[in-house]
This record gives sequence, C-alpha cells and structure tokens, in this order.
Amino acid sequence: MRILVVEDEPAIADFIERGLSAEGHTVSSALDGIEGERRALLEDVDLVVLDVMLPGRDGLSVLRSLRDAKPSLPVILLSARSEVTDRVAGLDHGATDYVTKPFAFDELAARVRAHLRGPEQVQSTVLEAAGIRLDLLTRRVERDGTQIHLSAKEFELLAFLLRHPGKALSRSQMLSAVWGMDFDPGTNIVEVYVGYLRRKLATSGRPAPIETVRSVGYRLRDD
Ligand code: CA
Repeated sequence: MRILVVEDEPAIADFIERGLSAEGHTVSSALDGIEGERRALLEDVDLVVLDVMLPGRDGLSVLRSLRDAKPSLPVILLSARSEVTDRVAGLDHGATDYVTKPFAFDELAARVRAHLRGPEQVQSTVLEAAGIRLDLLTRRVERDGTQIHLSAKEFELLAFLLRHPGKALSRSQMLSAVWGMDFDPGTNIVEVYVGYLRRKLATSGRPAPIETVRSVGYRLRDD
C-alpha cells in the first residue's frame, strides 16, 4: 500500500517511513503542509499520516481539503498531547483516527493496518442520522428513501450537520467547515443555506430536522 507521511520533523518522518517500509508499504514523506496537501491530492495514495502542527499549511486545513476531494481516504492525525484535547478529539474534522506524540511505532502501525483494510473505509463514506442518508462518494442523498438533489454547498453543509448529530453548531463553525472562512464576513450566508436545505429536506409533509439554537446556530435533531 502507498502511504504518505506529512511531518515536518525529519527524525519523526524518517522513523515512521522506515517502520512502515519494513511492514511492506511504499512510503514517502512531505515536510510541510503545502507539499503534503499537493501530493495527497495528486498522487495515488492509500493512506495519509498527517501531523497537525506543520509549516506552510496546518494539518487540519490539509485534512479539510482532503475530505472534500477524497472523502474515503484514511487519514491518521499525529498530534502532540497538548494540541489534542478539544481541537482534534472533540471537534470532528473528519480524521479517520489519531495518534498522540510521543507514540510507540507499534501503535501507529496497528492503526495503519486497521484502516488499510476492513469495512471502516467503506462505511465511512456514508453518513446517516435523522432518517437522512448521505453518501460522500456517490454524493447521493436520501431522506426516508426519497432522493434529494442538493447543490455542492448544500451537500457540504448537510454533511457537516450529519457528522455532529444532536450537537449545537455555531455559525462560525459552519462558515469554517463549509465555506473555509475563519472569520465572519457579516453575511447571512449560513441562514440562507440552512433555509435551502430545510426546504429540500422537508419531504412527505415532514419538516426538516434542522433546529435553530437561539444565539448559537443550528442543530440536526436526531431522534
Ligand atoms: Ca509538527
């Protein structure tokens, strides 16, 4: 299997590269986020080991663009213990798994093995909650078996909601995840798109399961 390691500390990159090569994989590394993103998008890789703190472009931004372009590509995040907590563990950025530094090689190798085979890779392309089924690969969306046609942004917004069922999501989280804006442009773009989604998801007389959470944002109701 072809594995790309994106890690700016040469000693760690080398350690991972040698270890995974010894397991029979074809491994190469990129030493910054820009090169890592470019290669992960262009090259035919089966799995990416991605450090969070990287020069050029940080690991979470790289992860976000990989998720858009290659939804089923397994990505294992590497993170120093102090960076993990809320940023990686709490917020689901779409990582398949993560390993905290310092780590034993066996731990990483076990996770790589787990994600290179097995059904996770297939299952993780489908998001399901509240009677809605969204396939990230075929981009087919259904509610209670009825197909729903969404624009690209509506699709991404719904995918983001489906990754966090039952959880209140702020407008700024949605702007960041769906539009890649890490600032509030002062528009009502989120409200507008939630409105579009609600109309499209309201099938067979059932209202869309997207609730407004006052002074926060929105929540996908998952009964
Ligand atoms: Ca680093």
